[in-house]
Amino acid sequence: AKKRGRNQIHWYHTGYEDQAIRRLNKEQILRNAIQDQDLAIHGQPRIDCRTGQIEALECLVRIPLEDGQLMFPGNFIELAEQNGLIRELDAYMLEQALNQISDWLSQGIEPLPLAINLSLQSFNTTLLDSLNQWQVRHPEVFQYLELELTEHRLPDHDEAFLEHLKSIRDFGIRLALDDFGTGYANLSRLPDWPFQILKLDRSFILDLPESDKQQAVVKSIIDLCSTLGIQVVAEGVETEAELTIVDQLGCHCIQGYVYARPKPLEDTGDWLSARRIS
Ligand code: C2E
Ligand code: CA
Ligand code: CA
Ligand code: CA
Repeated sequence: AKKRGRNQIHWYHTGYEDQAIRRLNKEQILRNAIQDQDLAIHGQPRIDCRTGQIEALECLVRIPLEDGQLMFPGNFIELAEQNGLIRELDAYMLEQALNQISDWLSQGIEPLPLAINLSLQSFNTTLLDSLNQWQVRHPEVFQYLELELTEHRLPDHDEAFLEHLKSIRDFGIRLALDDFGTGYANLSRLPDWPFQILKLDRSFILDLPESDKQQAVVKSIIDLCSTLGIQVVAEGVETEAELTIVDQLGCHCIQGYVYARPKPLEDTGDWLSARRIS
């Protein structure tokens, strides 16, 4: 039931130079895609590198374009945050993920936990309302849901925000601190936050094999998290060298091209296989 192409003006891709027009055009594409629910969801697994087990799939949004290409979030999330469309986009992703989990359960398949990225704006009472509705109908979905929030966007010393986080955790939803290290990497605040997962940004991983200093930093983050009972995930692991060092430092949970690139959620059957419950 997907209408495609409406208003997807061709010269978007032809190098038209006027920034304002390109922005308007991009905004129109974004608006239509959300309105028509014509968004593609790709999933990328997070893996325990000792067992090879998939622990979760991160859901990543893409916009299908008329020419068959995909527009990637790096190209439109910021715009969506500026014009407020991000709330609808994130709400859609969340709903799709919960529907998918619920479908798997009704088919007797043990769901792969799904992780959704939420912008700070999407983290509002509307979100809590829809979680409350799921709580009434299908509370069993929550144990398979994770929500990721980017570290450098988190408000400091905001009690109301902290309460929001805790009420989400009270649903049984796991919370992940995303892109850790891109902000102030404030380790001292970690004990106050109700995150069960910390995702070490790729910028940490990049220099790791060559830099003893960086290894020491990462090691101390991993050790602190282990004391606090927070699981560390190394993001954007691309090479065997990176994988080896991350594993040696005590982080066994990895997401990155070294294992798998994101692919359409509907093609992830092989990752889901052998998870039938009944
Ligand atoms: P992120 O949450 O940090 O997601 C990981 C990004 O790194 C993804 O880019 C993924 O494709 C990419 N990646 C995975 N493995 C590797 C690797 O080994 N090497 C490298 N270089 N990159 C890797 P993607 O899909 O382009 O998404 C970019 C960002 O857009 C995400 O970063 C996330 O912050 C945001 N985003 C994606 N989907 C959503 C969404 O539904 N809502 C919101 N609010 N933000 C989203
Ligand atoms: Ca993420
Ligand atoms: Ca990340
Ligand atoms: Ca990122």
